[in-house]
Order: sequence, then C-alpha cells, then structure tokens
Amino acid sequence: SQKSVYRGRFAPSPTGALHLGSLLTAVGSYLQARQQRGVWLLRMDDADHYRCRQEASASIVADLAALGFHWSEEIRYQRRVLSDYQQALNRLQEQQAVFACACSRKRLAGTRIYDGHCRFGVAEGETARAYRLKVPDRVVCCTDKLHGSVCQNLAHVWGDFVLWRADGVFAYPLTVVVDDGVQGITEVVRGADLLEEMPRQWYLQHLLGYAHPEYLHLPLVFGANGLKLSKQHGAPAIVSAEGTRLLWRVLTLLGQSPPEDLQQDSLSRCWEWAIAHWRIETLPKEIHLS
Ligand code: GLU
Ligand code: ZN
Repeated sequence: SQKSVYRGRFAPSPTGALHLGSLLTAVGSYLQARQQRGVWLLRMDDADHYRCRQEASASIVADLAALGFHWSEEIRYQRRVLSDYQQALNRLQEQQAVFACACSRKRLAGTRIYDGHCRFGVAEGETARAYRLKVPDRVVCCTDKLHGSVCQNLAHVWGDFVLWRADGVFAYPLTVVVDDGVQGITEVVRGADLLEEMPRQWYLQHLLGYAHPEYLHLPLVFGANGLKLSKQHGAPAIVSAEGTRLLWRVLTLLGQSPPEDLQQDSLSRCWEWAIAHWRIETLPKEIHLS
C-alpha cells in the first residue's frame, strides 16, 4: 500500500511573540516534516479571542519567515473557520456524545472533575451555558515517540470536559482535533506540556471519524530559574535577526550536534545541514538553560 505523504504543522497560540520554547517546537516540527519530504503547515490557534492578539500572530509569522521557515498552503486562522468547529459539535450532538450544561461557575467552584449534574438534561427554566462531552469510564492508551505510552482513564483524569465554553469560545481539545483532522495531519509534533492531552484528543478523533496522527512531544524547556519557559513566566521574545546563530543554538538544545563553523554560515546552509542530520534519537527528555 502507498504510504500517505507526511503532513505536519506548527500551531502557536498568538498570545505573545515567539520565545525560545515555542521556537524549539517550530524547528522540531519543521525538521521532522522536511526530512520526510513532507508538508509543513502553519496554523494560528486564535479561537480564544480573549487571549489572542492580532499583533502577536503578525509577529510570529514575521519571525518564522525571517528565520527561513517555509510553509505550504495558506495559514489556517481558527477564527476564520469557526463553522468547522460548529459542524463537529453538531455531529457529536447527533451521536448524543455531548450535552448542554447549565451549571453556574458558582455551582462548579471547587470541583475538579465535573459531577455529571446536567448529563441527563437541564432543568426547566435553566439555560445551556456550555457543551460538554460525555466521557466514558474507559482507559485510552496512546504512544509518543519520545515519551512512550500514556494511558488514562478519561473519566478519572478529565471527566465530562467542555467543548464549547460559556463565554462563547470553542475549547482547545475540540479545535485541535478538528484542525488536525481537516488538515489531514499525519504527525503532531509539539511541546511536552501537551503530552497529557493526547488520550482525550485520541478519543475525540475516534468519535469524529478522523485518522489518528502519530505523536512526538518535544522536550520542555526550563529557564535558568528552574521554571518552565512560558509567556506567563516572562520568557523573552526571540530575536529573529540573530538568524543562523539562533537556529544553531536551537539545534544544539535539541540534541543535534551542528558543527561550530556552521554558526558563521547562511541560514539556508544551516537548514540544509539540519534537515540532512536531524535525528529524534538524540533528543533530550528535558532542556535546561543555564
Ligand atoms: N496552540 C498550542 C500551544 O501553543 C499548541 C496546540 C497543539 O500543538 O496541539 O500550546
Ligand atoms: Zn452542568
């Protein structure tokens, strides 16, 4: 049988500029796609319009272009394809896999796992505020190429999680599964902070009839202060004008061993080397900046 062409993606949330951690994910997913002569797509996870900013997505696109990334097809902006998520939600509703939840924030305060209060209908006079997935009491196991297998009982770990939020936003587990499905992504390469998301996304893929992608969760990056690199913890934005030196540093952090003199070379030569030598076998499990 003919193996389908590799399709990968980088899906940043434009809540701020790229930092070293997100750049690492971009580079890893790009090299994984390029080495397999695959397609690499850029997607803006901007469905949560309360958190995302137009300037941030513009700066991410500019930084990636300046660093020599090339993506195929048009950038997918979630905010422009909301009807895809609505259709998926409708399909789940037809399968009776979702239910309306009328619980107030007050009622849910302090509960980590939803107690199923609205599973069998909301009381008269109450209005639906959110939509939740009916999560089965079942163990789902998935495999990650770096971290091995992750098994979760979805009911115990997540409970009936939200797909459409009370503030009118489609939730991440739904949008990511629909996007990967619609775009025909064959392998998801992203940060290990999302490793635990894999089983519930797997289950949603199953319900929606999408093929399951393969998974590679890249190592998390910890700053010199020992904290995970993130916008919340004030990780500085990358300076894409650093060009080859920046790419060289990222390759080194990813456990690749670029030759010293490549730092003085052009970006395109650096990418050439990286594509030819990329190996996931030498990825570290975690990255600590000094
Ligand atoms: N937008 C998500 C993030 O930046 C990534 C989503 C994904 O790759 O599944 O954390
Ligand atoms: Zn409820």
